[in-house]
Amino acid sequence: MTISQPSASASGTFDVVVVGAGFSGLYLLHRLRRAGFSAVVLEAADDVGGTWYWNRYPGARCDVPSVEYSFSFDDSLEQEWNWTERYAAQPEILKYLEHVAERFDLKRDIRFNTRVEAATYDVDAERWTVQAENGSTLQARFVAMATGCLSTSSIPNLPGLSDFAGPVLHTGRWPHEPQDFTGKRVAVIGTGSSAIQAIPVIAQQAAHLTVFQRTPNFSLPAGNHPLKPEEVEQVKATYPERREYLRRSRSGATYEYATVPALATPEEVRRAEFERRWKIGGANFMHAYTDLVKVREANELAAQFVRDKIAATIRDPETARKLMPTSYPIGTKRICLDTDYYPTYNRDNVSLIDLLEEPLQTITANGVRTSRQEYPADVLICATGFDAMTGSLLAMDIGTTDGQSLRKVWAEGPRNYLGLMVAGFPNLFTVTGPGSPSVLSNMVTSIEQHVDWIVDCVDHLRSKGLATIEASQDAQDAWVDHVREVANTTLYPQAASWYMGANIPGKPRMFLPYIGGVGAYRGKCEEVVAAGYKGFVLK
Ligand code: FAD
Repeated sequence: MTISQPSASASGTFDVVVVGAGFSGLYLLHRLRRAGFSAVVLEAADDVGGTWYWNRYPGARCDVPSVEYSFSFDDSLEQEWNWTERYAAQPEILKYLEHVAERFDLKRDIRFNTRVEAATYDVDAERWTVQAENGSTLQARFVAMATGCLSTSSIPNLPGLSDFAGPVLHTGRWPHEPQDFTGKRVAVIGTGSSAIQAIPVIAQQAAHLTVFQRTPNFSLPAGNHPLKPEEVEQVKATYPERREYLRRSRSGATYEYATVPALATPEEVRRAEFERRWKIGGANFMHAYTDLVKVREANELAAQFVRDKIAATIRDPETARKLMPTSYPIGTKRICLDTDYYPTYNRDNVSLIDLLEEPLQTITANGVRTSRQEYPADVLICATGFDAMTGSLLAMDIGTTDGQSLRKVWAEGPRNYLGLMVAGFPNLFTVTGPGSPSVLSNMVTSIEQHVDWIVDCVDHLRSKGLATIEASQDAQDAWVDHVREVANTTLYPQAASWYMGANIPGKPRMFLPYIGGVGAYRGKCEEVVAAGYKGFVLK
């Protein structure tokens, strides 16, 4: 991989300043350029990739099939790129994004090592000023935050962490140098998606791996495998129809969406169906019945199926018991996909510590001490997730010269219209913002939809000779209510999940993404445009 040179501080005036150079920022830049706008991307990292630049931990891979977790906007890109696995690993996805940046000559308009700290809208001049930590100050009519939903790592405030004598790593800020755990005692804190991907790989190398678990997660077998050339060819031959289907689908990915409820299905049929989906692998399991995330009793049938699988896999009944989630419905915390996660606990060099039974007291120089004992470690890995959806937006001081502040407006939780714009902040867009399908979907499908909507909107303003667009307060209030109401028809709000902001101390609890479905959401965005940007004020 080529590492770009650090950018010096930048200045200038643009039509659009984009913040972030992951999937969202790259596609935004491409589309803005094609539409004839001047645009620049500011990126904190020293290269492109976003999620796939930062999350280099062993085992990192996507959990939406690679052939769908990719851009659809360019036919020849789609036809020429060859994914090698059902779920591509991080190096391959990063290589893909590097390729996209090179293919469309994007890097010349990206300023790397440029972390934005503030953005201020001058209500008189109708312009944004964007300031970065390196002294860059840019002016633009529009700002698009492509800062990511899972891009601000949550570093736990563990007592004694700074006393630890060895390296402390975070899965979301993984070093670029290869990490060799041979002969080392490794401690992993956390058992979310990243940990579940990393643990089986690290266990193969480490002398001993101790996993510290607070809440067990439900994990399904990924069923990852190398893609055969004929599989890839078959997908390529049908890409246009497939992509169109994804855009109108529930989750932006090809799943076998159920048509019948579990509670109306005879037990043997249901078990056989769960078994069939379990064998195929992937998140398809959760789409087996229409009532799985709506009715607790139905959900419990799927949950018990997975618990039975855990019991059947793990030799030590005590370890199996600790790994079985019982305190929330399956699927209401992000469902994890794994390769050999549960069997890893049968290895002699792996132990599981349940922090609910023996709370973590402190990190020491030599390891982790719980209420029962000290567990020695040479390396500490925090797999403690992200301040999801709002973390990166609120890390910046976003405001206006008439006294609006995003941090104040969102103090009780994010409020916006369609997940795209916030009332009081004209010409500021958020890609896959809270209140949009985002993390509940194949995010590349959702990113493309948002980017297209945003660029079409800016183009519309230009063609009508208009200067500003802003969400109206009424439309915003109605949207926030709608997002909450739809969430409340499901079991999702019952879990203390990062979807609810529950993993971050002090974060307001509300269901952050929109669960109405990718296709339905797209339809609403289209209706708004067709009705002359209904709910927005254009001037
Ligand atoms: P990101 O990729 O997060 O990029 C945002 C960029 O903005 C980052 O490079 C960041 O450095 C930059 N940035 C943030 N704040 C600032 C600032 N103030 N100044 C300058 N730059 C800033 N989604 C799926 O749909 N399917 C999957 O299988 C999947 N797997 C995932 C696996 C992992 C380990 C993680 C962490 C996430 C996964 N996701 C997955 C979600 C993933 O984040 C999105 O799919 C997608 O990569 C988001 O792209 P993005 O460009 O919107 O944001």
